[in-house]
Amino acid sequence: MIQFKNVTKRYGNKTAVDDLTFDIKEGETFVLIGPSGCGKTTTLKMINRLIPLTNGYIYFKDRPISDYQVYEMRWDIGYVLQQIALFPHMTIKENIAQVPLMKKWSETDIDKRIDELLEMVGMDPEQFKNRKPSELSGGQQQRVGVVRALAADPPVILMDEPFSALDPISREKLQDDLVELQKKIKKTIVFVTHDIQEALKLGDRICLLKEGHAEQIGTPDEFLTSP
Ligand code: ADP
Ligand code: ADP
Repeated sequence: MIQFKNVTKRYGNKTAVDDLTFDIKEGETFVLIGPSGCGKTTTLKMINRLIPLTNGYIYFKDRPISDYQVYEMRWDIGYVLQQIALFPHMTIKENIAQVPLMKKWSETDIDKRIDELLEMVGMDPEQFKNRKPSELSGGQQQRVGVVRALAADPPVILMDEPFSALDPISREKLQDDLVELQKKIKKTIVFVTHDIQEALKLGDRICLLKEGHAEQIGTPDEFLTSP
């Protein structure tokens, strides 16, 4: 689904991402892990063209990402950030409806989709859809962030430390719920974290980055049994 071929990113003379080559398969959760500054966010943002590459290629569905318009990437690739990034003046429903509206979905289809997704993340649509983000807890807002990323049914979701701003109990609950949700939606998820427990729990495969290069790529079992 997403292929990296010798991808390098330099900021000035600082190499943030160094010659990365890997394939992310359709329907898998691929976790990028490593300490702060190892290049996780840069790697993620190159996938949806928020950051241009210095060298190499990234292919999305067998097409080089440079062929895509930035707006196409927004449609095909959902994005969930660490900082809760809902529009404060809009209701939950209006926040979620943004991309489906741009894609000119009908009002009926949008309503149906919002109800279905809110239910999938354990939020009663009738209770929540007309509220403003400030009336929700951090965990609920992050659930809405996930729903918003899924709204127009993109094949790929990028998640940059989506749960790390939450308290430990909410974080664990959202991790468990994401595992369950992923069994139903089977999206290709690229998930950034610096938390090894989170990586082991969520990842089908894990890529350990060190100073911009891939130190190890493997399944959680392979990580647990390697020296
Ligand atoms: P991580 O997400 O793993 O914390 P980043 O991808 O944010 O790592 O950053 C990788 C390296 O690139 C770090 O050394 C960081 O300081 C540097 N970096 C990131 N963004 C920029 C930028 N816009 N300009 C210069 N250096 C940057
Ligand atoms: P994260 O690791 O979650 O990306 P950071 O605090 O490292 O968070 O980066 C926040 C923003 O600042 C990013 O957009 C990144 O590109 C930019 N940034 C990070 N490091 C540098 C740097 N050394 N110089 C300039 N911009 C940077």
